[in-house]
Amino acid sequence: MGVVRDPLRGRVRPEPEHTDEQIVAAMTPIRPARWAVLTGAGISTDSGIPDYRGPGSPARAPMTVQTFLSHPAQRARYWARGWIGWKRMTAVHPNAGHRALARIAPLGIITQNVDGLHQAAGSEPVIDLHGRLDRVICLDCGTVIDRDRVQEELDALNPGFLDTLGAAPETLETAPDGDVELEETAHFRVLDCPRCGGVLKPDVVYFGESVPRPRVDAAFALLGSASGLVVLGSSLAVHSGLRFVRAAVREELPVVIVTDGPTRADELPVQRSVSRVADFLRTWEDALGRAI
Ligand SMILES: [Zn+2]
Repeated sequence: MGVVRDPLRGRVRPEPEHTDEQIVAAMTPIRPARWAVLTGAGISTDSGIPDYRGPGSPARAPMTVQTFLSHPAQRARYWARGWIGWKRMTAVHPNAGHRALARIAPLGIITQNVDGLHQAAGSEPVIDLHGRLDRVICLDCGTVIDRDRVQEELDALNPGFLDTLGAAPETLETAPDGDVELEETAHFRVLDCPRCGGVLKPDVVYFGESVPRPRVDAAFALLGSASGLVVLGSSLAVHSGLRFVRAAVREELPVVIVTDGPTRADELPVQRSVSRVADFLRTWEDALGRAI
């Protein structure tokens, strides 16, 4: 696996100029339904999904799509880890942050997360920029299969696999993409497309892949009809999210970024909070309650 350069290296957490109360006081003249929201891993950490770019996280090289496609052993490793990770993902629920955001009901949410938790909390519309972990796609014929069905097939193909691990699956670390840290994967049998025998891949955007154009267009359309942008729990380390902040700044929209570490947009004219996302949303919701 290649070296992944850390775009945040050398950056430091900024000192916010304003408190959350001051930031939301400046936000409330624009009603919630005029704000676009961009979310990252930091909003899902309270649901037990770690943010592998957040402060204190171990360096971790994500699998690229090239590795996935060209190395059957790596593919087996991915699916073995994903098979165990999915058992946990199905037990993950929206947290106070997701629920508060659903009540605030912004214009729409663009999310870099693949966990489906905004929809589970009742938010809409949600644009899943990087796809959804609960869907699997055939790279050859394009068939989309429900992840639960793939899980059943993998269960049937790999009886007794858990016993070979030597560790209980719940002791293994889960990563944001539903993956777990696990090396004993050589014997895991992967599932091929039931329709054409092609390669199945989770319907998520991997490193080295582009976000599908229609999804990018939908996100820009959402931003285009918004009066401001709030970024929650993203370090904006990848271009796929950063471009929306740049576009909002270009259009001179107010931009608020809430995350507890540095971001790639900290030099831009944005308002910064380093609070926990759920705490910031509670402050915003309280201010809206007072404003009504
Ligand atoms: Zn197929």
